[in-house]
Amino acid sequence: MLKSIAVMTSGGDSPGMNAAIRAVTRTALHQGVKVWGIRGGYHGMLDEDIFEMQSKDVSDIIQRGGTFLGTARCKRFATPEGRMLGYKNLVERGIQGLVVIGGDGSLRGASILSQETGIPIVGLPGTIDNDVWGSEYTIGCDTAANTIIDAINKLRDTASAHRRTIVLEVMGRNSGWLAMVSGISGGAEYILVPEEEYDIDEICEDMKRAYDAGKRYMMVVVAEGAGKGHEVGKAIAEKTGLDTRVSKLGHIQRGGSPTVIDRVNASRLGEHAALALISGLSDIVFGFDRGHVVSINLHDAVNNKKLLNPEFMRLARVLT
Ligand code: ADP
Repeated sequence: MLKSIAVMTSGGDSPGMNAAIRAVTRTALHQGVKVWGIRGGYHGMLDEDIFEMQSKDVSDIIQRGGTFLGTARCKRFATPEGRMLGYKNLVERGIQGLVVIGGDGSLRGASILSQETGIPIVGLPGTIDNDVWGSEYTIGCDTAANTIIDAINKLRDTASAHRRTIVLEVMGRNSGWLAMVSGISGGAEYILVPEEEYDIDEICEDMKRAYDAGKRYMMVVVAEGAGKGHEVGKAIAEKTGLDTRVSKLGHIQRGGSPTVIDRVNASRLGEHAALALISGLSDIVFGFDRGHVVSINLHDAVNNKKLLNPEFMRLARVLT
């Protein structure tokens, strides 16, 4: 049984991280275990921005997006010296284990820290991209997808009024999950993702035919990894002559009050992480499989690439 653990968020923020921190903290306290918060990701670990938390420290945060601990990208942590300093700062406080909430990069860093120092680490997937291998869900993906759908709904109104084609660029450098689920649920005509090649000429020919047949307007959702929105929009305008506009959602997708799904899932994952870590488990990530919380080997999670469910690709082709 561990007697003292720490929790931190790292890398890109995502809505629901606060619910996860809260669950880790309150579960640990409930078990009579000390819990520390590390501010600003691995930066805080290296710069000793570490404080002991009580239940009230995580009051009034479950409804907030972002992460009240702050997050960061930290170059120093990518060096062995940096990680040793971080480890020393934890040991000096009697911290025996760590919960890291973050994306692929943060979990990779956590895996290396645990290998090098032997400190027990449990990871939680926190990223809007839903691209952590082994889990069908990552904290924040549901809120982000809902933010995009809201934008699509609004863009459809104006696209319809003007008979326009609208290209919406959404986040997803390496993963098309967000574009895919929001495109499908927003009724987009075309969804471009990095996982699948597309032929812009073919798309444009198809668009012209649809427009001539009476289609009022069209929505194209493009993940940033599949092409820049303005380039896709320019190509469409040039090749089809259709009145085309481009929107880019940017960081709006990262923020906002988390949805019920993100709050509940993050809370469940946080509880599992704290209990597992306290019981002495290490090098695992908790995620979801078919609606159930499952543990995934941390090494496997960071060394495998999650693929986009082919069912989405098929569905998008049929419905759009
Ligand atoms: P995310 O966790 O959202 O994928 P990043 O990829 O930027 O975000 O990673 C966040 C931080 O995790 C990095 O700034 C760095 O401190 C740490 N990190 C990422 N990759 C590694 C690595 N290969 N080795 C050590 N630390 C890493």
